[in-house]
Amino acid sequence: MQRGIWLRSRWVPMARPCMRGIPRRRVMEVNCYQSKELNGFNLPEAELHATQNNNGCRSSRGWDLVQEQMKQGKLLDVSTFRDILSDHEHRDRDPAENPLLKWWGYSICNHGTRKQDAYEADAAPWGTVSAEVLEPAKKLLHYNYGWACGEGAEFQDQLFQSHSWSHFASFRSPSAGEHTGRGGGRPVACTTVKGELLAEASQFLCTAF
Ligand SMILES: [Zn+2]
Repeated sequence: MQRGIWLRSRWVPMARPCMRGIPRRRVMEVNCYQSKELNGFNLPEAELHATQNNNGCRSSRGWDLVQEQMKQGKLLDVSTFRDILSDHEHRDRDPAENPLLKWWGYSICNHGTRKQDAYEADAAPWGTVSAEVLEPAKKLLHYNYGWACGEGAEFQDQLFQSHSWSHFASFRSPSAGEHTGRGGGRPVACTTVKGELLAEASQFLCTAF
């Protein structure tokens, strides 16, 4: 399965694994197909077992972290997912070796950098822009414009990270029929592309910002 429903990093596409947790069933989703029906559409170098790409190591690391939590009898809750998204295992592995996208890193948090002073679109260091955890039971979106770990940017080529919030903020979903601001009933932009919070977001924000 390629994309998550509950937990996505969005998304510079292909930025990190996604996890969907439902009672008695968990799915670890990375950026290749895993189902029998679709895995024939993967590029060979994108397969989970192709060790040079970052799909296999991110998926297996995610599973290891989930198993650790379960062995300790801990809940797979919002806090757990945030911690998993913040994981830096494989951070030191050379992203230049990734055959899918050069400079696309191997950790789950995936800061993405070529250690340059400027972002070059033609030689982009692929990585995470923002992190989110969806909590359907409470109709909440927990969102961090920036890496899940909250660290600040180290280099100028780390896309949008100079605007990182460095923390998660929680937003509620509008109730059915609720006026949702300008253009009521249609999606409301809560931030700019650079992560600046817009006035319309205040009606959905549930935590201190
Ligand atoms: Zn991080």
